[in-house]
Amino acid sequence: MNDRDRMAHEVEKTDEEWRRILTPDEFHLLRRKGTEPAFRNAYWDNKRPGTYICAGCGNELFSSDSKFDSGTGWPSFSEPVKKEAVETEEDRSLGVVRTAVKCARCGGHLGHVFRDGPPPTGMRHCMNSGAMRFREKKRD
Ligand code: FE
Repeated sequence: MNDRDRMAHEVEKTDEEWRRILTPDEFHLLRRKGTEPAFRNAYWDNKRPGTYICAGCGNELFSSDSKFDSGTGWPSFSEPVKKEAVETEEDRSLGVVRTAVKCARCGGHLGHVFRDGPPPTGMRHCMNSGAMRFREKKRD
């Protein structure tokens, strides 16, 4: 088995490499499982059409089509652009069991998913704006 086979994600970097390409806020969120403040983040109230991509690796994560107003102050989505775009992991920090959502391509922490979202999925992907970048849909 060579090093490449051992890699958990398609994009793997050391912390030092990540620090070089991410802002300090992005590094804290993506690589240290940080959480940004509610209502004081870039996209919680963004209603423009487009796609949210991973700030770490550019992976397409969520479409504005699945964004809804959760009232939480964080950008919230009923589903990812495709199932394989994200992966989940049990998170037992803060003394409660939550499900963390990560970018499937680079393993960057994006937020958490809860089962109190709107139908038909019933899912609420509660994301950190700073872990993503918004790519506005071009009008044709
Ligand atoms: Fe990523």
